[in-house]
This record gives sequence, C-alpha cells and structure tokens, in this order.
Amino acid sequence: MTIKSAKLALLTIAALLFSASSLYSYNRDLDVVRYVSATIKAVGWASSELEMEVLKFDHALTALAAGTRDEDHVQLRFELLWSRIDTLLEGEENRPMREQPGVKSLLLEFRQQLQQWESDVYQLSAGDRAAIVALKKTLAPYRQQARELNVDSFSGGSVWQQLDIIGDIRLRSTIYLGGLLISGGLMLWLLLRENRRNRYLAYHDMLTGLPNRMNFYQLMEQSLNRAQRDQRNLAVHMVDLNGFKSINDSLGHDVGDRVLKVVASRLGVALQGQGHVARLGGDEFVVIQPFDQRDKAEGLSEILLKTLAAEIRLPDGCLSPQASIGTSFYPEHGVTMAELLSHADTAMYYAKHDPKFSARVFEPGMDERRLRSQKLAVALQLAIENDELSLVYQPIFRLDGGNIESLEALLRWHSVEHGHISPLEIIAVAEHHGLAHQLNQWVLFTACRQLKNWHQQGHGWLKVNVNISPEIFMSGELGSTVKAVLQRTGLPASGLVLEITEDTSLWDTAGSLENLTRLRQLGVEIALDDFGTGYSSFSHLRQLPVNKLKIDKSFVSDLTTDQRAADLVHTIIKLAESLDMEVTAEGIELPEQQQRLLELGCQLGQGYLLARPLLADQVADWLQQDLQHFTPAG
Ligand code: C2E
Ligand code: MG
Ligand code: MG
Repeated sequence: MTIKSAKLALLTIAALLFSASSLYSYNRDLDVVRYVSATIKAVGWASSELEMEVLKFDHALTALAAGTRDEDHVQLRFELLWSRIDTLLEGEENRPMREQPGVKSLLLEFRQQLQQWESDVYQLSAGDRAAIVALKKTLAPYRQQARELNVDSFSGGSVWQQLDIIGDIRLRSTIYLGGLLISGGLMLWLLLRENRRNRYLAYHDMLTGLPNRMNFYQLMEQSLNRAQRDQRNLAVHMVDLNGFKSINDSLGHDVGDRVLKVVASRLGVALQGQGHVARLGGDEFVVIQPFDQRDKAEGLSEILLKTLAAEIRLPDGCLSPQASIGTSFYPEHGVTMAELLSHADTAMYYAKHDPKFSARVFEPGMDERRLRSQKLAVALQLAIENDELSLVYQPIFRLDGGNIESLEALLRWHSVEHGHISPLEIIAVAEHHGLAHQLNQWVLFTACRQLKNWHQQGHGWLKVNVNISPEIFMSGELGSTVKAVLQRTGLPASGLVLEITEDTSLWDTAGSLENLTRLRQLGVEIALDDFGTGYSSFSHLRQLPVNKLKIDKSFVSDLTTDQRAADLVHTIIKLAESLDMEVTAEGIELPEQQQRLLELGCQLGQGYLLARPLLADQVADWLQQDLQHFTPAG
C-alpha cells in the first residue's frame, strides 16, 4: 500500500468513526426522550385505571341502593379496586407512577381504608341504604383524589415540565447532530481539498500551471510504454528560449514571468492536445508528441517556433520570443527516457548555435561535436588568459571615392590543440559556456587600443567596426563596458562602430531601444549587421537608433545573377536613405558587383575584391604606403 492510499484509508476511518459516534450520541438522546415519554404514558394509564376502578366501585354502590345491581357485583368491584391498588403499589411497571410526589402515601392510605371497609362491604345488602350512603361518603374524598391524580398525570405541571424537557432534548440533539455532521463534512472537505491542492502543487509548476519536472518524468514513462505497446513513434522536443536571462536582467522579473506564462500557454495551444507540454525549469520546456509520420513531428517544431514568435505586448514596447528546439525520436534515437532527453538536449544545443536553423533534429554525430564544444570552451578560457587570440582587420571603403572609411575587427584563433577555429564557432562556444562577456571585452579593448595607435600615427579619421555578440548586447551591460574601454584607451567615441546582428536588435524592442539610445548618446555609431537575413519589421527599424545597415553578403553574391536580389538590395538602399542610414555592402568579390552597388547608390563596401582581412602590422604598412584607397569601378 502506498503512503497516499494509507493516508486516504486513515482519513476515511476517521470520518466514519466521527459519523458513527455522532449518530450514537444522537440515538442516546432519543432513548432518553423515548423513556421520558413512556413514563408519562405509563403514569397516565395507571392513574386513569385507578380512577376508573374507584368510579366503578362507587357506581356499583349506587346501583345496589337503586336495586339494579346485587351485592355480588359490589364485592367484585371492591376486589378489583383493591387488586388495582396492590398492583399500583407493587408492580415494577408502575414505579414511575409511585414515584410521583404524594402518590405512594395516597395509595397506602387508600389500601388501609379498603382493609377497614372490607367486613362492611361483605355484609352490605340492598336494603341497607344508610350504610351504602355512609360508605359512599367516605369514598368521596378518595374519588376526588383519584380524579386529581388522573387529571394531573395528563395535564399537571410536572407533565408539562417533562414535555418541555423532551422538546428541549429533541431540539438540542438535532442541532447537536446537525452541527457535528456539518463540521465533520466541512473538515473532510477541507482535508480532501488540501490533499488535492498539495498533489497539484507537487506535480505542477506554480508560475505556468504546466506539469513540472517530476510530473514530466511520469508522463514520459507513460508515453514511452504506450508507444512501445502500440508500436508508435514518439518525438521529444526540447524548447529553450533565446536570451531569456537578458530579458530578466534588463526588463525585470515581472516581464520574464509574463513571457514564460505566455510561452507556456502558446505551447499548449500549438500542441492541440496531441501530447504533453511540461516546464523543466527556467526557460526550458519540453513537448512529448506521439506521431505516425516523421514530417508531422518535424512540422510541429516549426509550428511551435512560429507560434512562440508572435509579439507580446508590454507596458512600454513589445517583444517576440525566439526559441531553439532540439528534437529526438523514439525509437530511432533511443528507447529510454534518458537517451531521448539527452539527445533532444544535444540537438537543442545545435539549434541554439546554428545561425540558419532554430530547430534541429538529433543526428548521431552531434554528441561528438558537443564534446568538442566543451573541450573548446576549456581551451578558449586559457586562450583568452594567455593572449592566444588575435584580431584581423578588414577595410571598409567609400565606394564612390575609394577611400578607406573603417576597419572591421574580426576574431581569429589558432589553437595548438584544435587548429584554426572559425569566429562563429568561437562566439557560439563562448556564449554557451559563459565566456561571451570576457571575450567581447577583450575584442573591444584590443580593437580600440589598436585604432588609438593608428590615430596616433596620424590616421585620425579611421574608424573601427567591432562585432558584438547577441548575448552581450541583450544583457544591457554594453553601455558601461564601452564607456570604460573608451576611457581606458583614450579613443574618441566617434571612432567606434558597433555591429549588432539584425535579430538581436529586434528581439525585444523595449530593451533594445534603451540600450541603443544609451550607446548613441555616447557618440558611438551602430550598424545593423547581416541585414536581410533576420526577421526585420520595417516599423521596428524606424524606431531603432541605428545609423548604418550592412547588407548581408548572400544578397551581394546574387546581385548580378538574380534580378530579385538586385531589387531587394535596391529597396534596402532606398529604405536606408529614407531613414537617414548609410549602407555597407558585405562580401564584394567581383567587379560587376561593385559596379552594380555603386549604380544602386550604396555608399560603403567591404569584400575580398577590395581587401581581405589584414593583420594589424599589414594595416600599418598599408596606411604608411598610402594605399588606403582603391580605384573605384566604372
Ligand atoms: P560579419 O560580421 O558579417 O563579418 C564578415 C565576414 O565575412 C567575415 O568572416 C569576413 O572575413 C567575411 N568576408 C569579408 N569579405 C568577404 C567576401 O568577399 N566574401 C566572403 N565569402 N566572405 C567575406 P569571418 O571573419 O569568418 O567572421 C564571421 C562572422 O563571425 C562575422 O560576420 C561576425 O558575425 C562573427 N565575428 C567575427 N569576429 C567577431 C568578434 O570579434 N566578435 C563577435 N561577436 N563576432 C565576430
Ligand atoms: Mg560584422
Ligand atoms: Mg555581416
């Protein structure tokens, strides 16, 4: 027997005991009532019998005098009267009557009187009228007393008193029983309710009302058993919000809670009852979905992502939650809960760090790559401390005059153990292992210090573009970091351009606006990097205090071969113009692309055709040799 059922059994026994003892004490009260009313009835009956016998004897005397009855009849009535009195004096059932005040003495006196009359009555004859009258006369007071006793037994003061007591007892026991039953019922109801509440709390997440981790394990176990029995497939989708910590940090916990609640309810709606949603903790949710066709399961991740990304209105702005989803399938990727969860988690890790897909299905090679990421994180930490990282600088030119405008600092890491690691992987590892802040600070400081050097060498017009990883931007610490770096290096704010990716800046408008405005107030420029690849909304763009757009290289590469790409670039340039923003084209590799961009009115350009990323020394030589401009195309 489980603890739960033992508790319930105990509770039921307590309730039954309580009801039984309430009913028992009610019945005892009723017994008292019954006894008292039986007493009243017995006394009433006995006294009326006594009066009747006295009257009958008296009547027999009258009839003897009138000659309508004989002496035998008078003697019979006399004996019956006597025996009645004896019964009343001795019979156990007549005790209540005898115990009435004055009754016993009356009966004893009456019996004594009968003894005295006995010889007279047996000698009495019809003609002896004087003796009959005398007897009747002595009988009269007894007749009167028997009468009073009888009347008293039905309507005397003690009877009323007893009837009052009976009524009182009846009423009180009914109230008492009612009270006991109501309080007992109430107690039972409260206990059951509390029990239900405790059970609910133990199995649900307080904030969202979704099943919690403990409940999830049970649901998962049940779903797995069912899938096994019915030979069905099961998908486990691990859902994690992007940058949730930053929402909490920069917009407050109320907003964070609100987002979690909305996300929970949206997940439930999107699932349409075809499985379970649970919150594992923090911003981590999990969905269990039985399915027949694999595309249904993959389709659900897309639906979930889309449903979650709808805007949430906040008191000052709005926010659209972005999530990463990792999926594993039963039985394809594992048959135990531990395997499926671990694989879904690994896939989620990949979704989180894949710039192209927010949802990933587990693949067997992922585990090794995840292990690599963990090893890289350890190595990266050491690399930062040992100054193993470096920056290269790719020039950005004015497309019309050919002058160099700025240098984009790009991260490089050649690890002795792991070889060359791409900056995107470095950033992903850093963000996932809590090194992003340290890394960004290093990049920002190194780039600013370098630019300050070049300024001191006489190239004061130069700027540096520094990429900022999404996590840092959203944490809201960027303003103070930038300020501190500018102070330390002595670089004027106008020399710094911060590049933030499009998605980041639009994640939440309320927080973004504040962060960006603070930075712009410092005098720093802000460029929206990889423009066109995220989900921009033009209305958002209008609100952002950004002064540069960088068109993603995927548009530039298609520029001369795909008319639609050309139209899009044209539209972006027009849009930027109307918003007073400068446009930089990334990834210019061919003279035709450069030519076309110039025709479309693009002001700035960057790409292998113009210059590859250079080491700091190479940049210095370059600047020294006055090679800082190229010949514009056309
Ligand atoms: P990004 O900011 O869009 O930087 C431009 C990327 O395009 C650089 O790649 C650059 O080498 C490459 N590129 C430049 N011209 C051409 C071209 O003509 N053709 C092609 N195919 N590519 C060209 P890289 O250095 O590998 O950096 C990749 C991304 O990594 C960057 O994209 C940026 O998002 C990120 N990143 C690089 N360094 C840092 C950093 O210090 N901090 C942060 N947070 N992110 C960085
Ligand atoms: Mg960039
Ligand atoms: Mg870019």
